[in-house]
Amino acid sequence: MSPSPIARWNAIPLYLRILIALALGLVAGMLLGERAAFLEIPSQVILQLLGALAPPLILVAVTHVLMTSEIKGRTAARLGGLLLLNTTVAIVIGLSVANLMRPGEGANLAGPAAEGAEQEGPDPFALLVANVPKSILGPLGDKQNIIGVIIIAVAFGIALRGLKEKPLTNVQEAVEIAYEALLVMLHWIIQLVPIGVFCIVANVIGVRGFAAFQSLGYFVVAVLIALVLQTVWYMVRIRLFSWPRPLYVLAGMRDALVMAFSTDSSTATMPVTYDCLVNKVGLREESASMGALVGANFNNDGTALYEAMAALFVAQGIGMNLTPLQQLMVVLTSIVASVGAAGIPEAGLVTMTLVFGAVGLPIEHIALLLTVDWFLDRCRTTINVLGDVNVSCLLDGRERESKTIHHRATEDTETEAEKGAADKRG
Ligand code: ASP
Repeated sequence: MSPSPIARWNAIPLYLRILIALALGLVAGMLLGERAAFLEIPSQVILQLLGALAPPLILVAVTHVLMTSEIKGRTAARLGGLLLLNTTVAIVIGLSVANLMRPGEGANLAGPAAEGAEQEGPDPFALLVANVPKSILGPLGDKQNIIGVIIIAVAFGIALRGLKEKPLTNVQEAVEIAYEALLVMLHWIIQLVPIGVFCIVANVIGVRGFAAFQSLGYFVVAVLIALVLQTVWYMVRIRLFSWPRPLYVLAGMRDALVMAFSTDSSTATMPVTYDCLVNKVGLREESASMGALVGANFNNDGTALYEAMAALFVAQGIGMNLTPLQQLMVVLTSIVASVGAAGIPEAGLVTMTLVFGAVGLPIEHIALLLTVDWFLDRCRTTINVLGDVNVSCLLDGRERESKTIHHRATEDTETEAEKGAADKRG
């Protein structure tokens, strides 16, 4: 039996599906023109669903990391300090580049005023959007939104079907199952991303023309510049405060970095990161596990930088000037959002809804970013991994591991011994 068209479509890697959707959206937008306006609704629904997952995901992810990681007081404080410093530097770099380059200025996005349109008459599309839950627990306390409750019940019911046989013996397992169920749901929504991309591209091209996409190109360049600056920060810190030379670290981490870029997931890359740190760079196992296994759960500098830049891009696009206080809010929420972002593809988009919410930016514009996220996500994932590498190197300190030296010394002794034996034989 030949696979169904849906199965065949799903077998294509996500980034290719997004690219195909992008091309089709471009054509549809040019053909439909103003009539493409209604296509805004599906992408809005997808974003609302992503936004609904953000708070519980952050809650469960942070709870899980805190209850399971085994770190001692002093190392924990040191690790925490390093992570906070790196993430803050990342966000400051992101905001500075976005403030200097102002990539969103020509984007000409619609302002938040568009929300008012929902109130005019019983528009069936608006009704649909109103019933899609904006948060997972929200509809439970809202007597009006029974459809929202049903959507959540159906989602949990189906997500838990595959997990129902798992035995529950302790609290940790309960938290893990909640986390897995949320990730299953996230995976479903991510499958919808190509549809969202198609709709938003057709809509933007049809209604507003190409201006937004030109700005988006400029935004991509700005993000890349900021990520390169963040890499420079890491390398300078390694050069000053750790024993391995920066280029040696980059060469040793090649496999992990390429894997991060190609899988789009810092969690999937984690074992390779750890292995390269210990076996190729030669760090102590303890520092590698602290940075690449424990720290990696909190440490997503690339994501933090990107979320802050995205917020500024959209603010510039809708002509909203973020005050220094609002930019500070962006910094704080981006830190939280990056801590809560799971190390899987597109996770940053979910938590970005929180950053936007905190400063009152309309989340529907995140849809526009979906079109370039397949690429930028890979770049920020690579930086997320490089951030873990940086922390591991700094924790390893200026002195090279005595075990390696010892190991070398043992090898040397063996060689000497072998030489001696050979000499004797000779
Ligand atoms: N894909 C990123 C990671 O795995 C998370 C993100 O979407 O920013 O680290």
